[in-house]
Amino acid sequence: MALHSTVQVSLAERSYPIHIGQGLSSAFPKWLSERCPKSRHAVVISDANVVSFAEGYCSELLQADYRISNLAIPSGEGSKSLNEAARLWEAMLDEHTDRGSVVVAIGGGVVGDLAGFVAASFTRGLPLVQIPTTLLSHVDSSVGGKTGVNLPKAKNMVGAFWQPSLVVIDTDSLNTLPQREFVSGLAEVLKYGVILIPELLDYLEQHAASVLRKEATAISHLVAESCKAKASVVQHDERETTGLRAILNYGHTFAHALESVVGYGQLLHGQAVSIGMHMAACLAYQLKRIPWSFVERQRKLLVTLQLPTQFLDAEPVKLWSAMQHDKKVEHGQLRFVLPTRFGYVELVPGITKQQTLDAIALANQITETLQ
Ligand code: NAD
Repeated sequence: MALHSTVQVSLAERSYPIHIGQGLSSAFPKWLSERCPKSRHAVVISDANVVSFAEGYCSELLQADYRISNLAIPSGEGSKSLNEAARLWEAMLDEHTDRGSVVVAIGGGVVGDLAGFVAASFTRGLPLVQIPTTLLSHVDSSVGGKTGVNLPKAKNMVGAFWQPSLVVIDTDSLNTLPQREFVSGLAEVLKYGVILIPELLDYLEQHAASVLRKEATAISHLVAESCKAKASVVQHDERETTGLRAILNYGHTFAHALESVVGYGQLLHGQAVSIGMHMAACLAYQLKRIPWSFVERQRKLLVTLQLPTQFLDAEPVKLWSAMQHDKKVEHGQLRFVLPTRFGYVELVPGITKQQTLDAIALANQITETLQ
């Protein structure tokens, strides 16, 4: 193992380690047997785009005498469905999956969310291991225990909180990831810098070129810091009951509206989050919560990381209408996660339609004049 660090998620009996580094497959069987001592059968769920990476992990398991059932799903958001979950449940039954089995999810957030949901529900709960393969799943979806599928009319509507027993983040998985997907994941890394760890922003500014080249040392550092940030939030609000977990949604109220207005697929999630963070910073500036220099520093960093800060085709009024479906709407008024300084955000209630539209207008105007 060239590089290796561990972040612990502390949740009483549901605590688990996140191993982060390069070339971790040879250590995997040992970690698995330590964390899931009763499991000798691994149901490996992956998609076609990660076949060769998954093979490395499977061959280590075979050498360690695990029985393996390989179940592949079609790649893409469409697989996060009840139909696909049902297909996996049936296949697991055919493969004699029982309480002595462990579900190993190898893939991006789609594989992780679906496999996690299947693990949470089959025989009322099997142990789960996440081996995420996109930057977004490294820093976000593989940590925290949210699993689920979409309904035709509503994303992530059916699911369960089901913590993994083990997370293995092998930066080698990023070698095959398309650059657009990789860059999209950087938006979530930058988000942790803005909401919790300002040092991450310094690091991104100083090492942007190494980061964009996916250099293992830089990526391992960013992933470890992001996982620590997410773990610290999840540890205090595992099931989204205290409101703390909402801070992870910085930029996301605008982003979800953009995704629904523009149509899923046109913008990757991280790209929408990037634009959303820019709009949120403009809103915070207009509310006099932050100085102009905050907006500019964040915008420059987003641009340096090749992330978009505008999507001028999305009509502001349509965005506002789409936001009315946001989970953070209270008595018809929007609540936004907004910063007061780098490293600190709050959930701010009572934002009016006009304030929202003004923020979008300002965000669009700045990008037009300065880009
Ligand atoms: P994804 O899983 O669809 O992966 C993106 C694309 O990259 C897919 O085509 C996939 O096949 C491909 N891919 C994955 N790894 C690859 C690799 N190493 N090399 C080449 N291609 C690879 O998308 P994603 O961005 O990882 O995840 C998005 C999903 O995550 C959404 O469904 C979202 O709702 C969910 N999510 C969940 C949480 C959570 O807390 N559970 C948090 C954020 C997002």
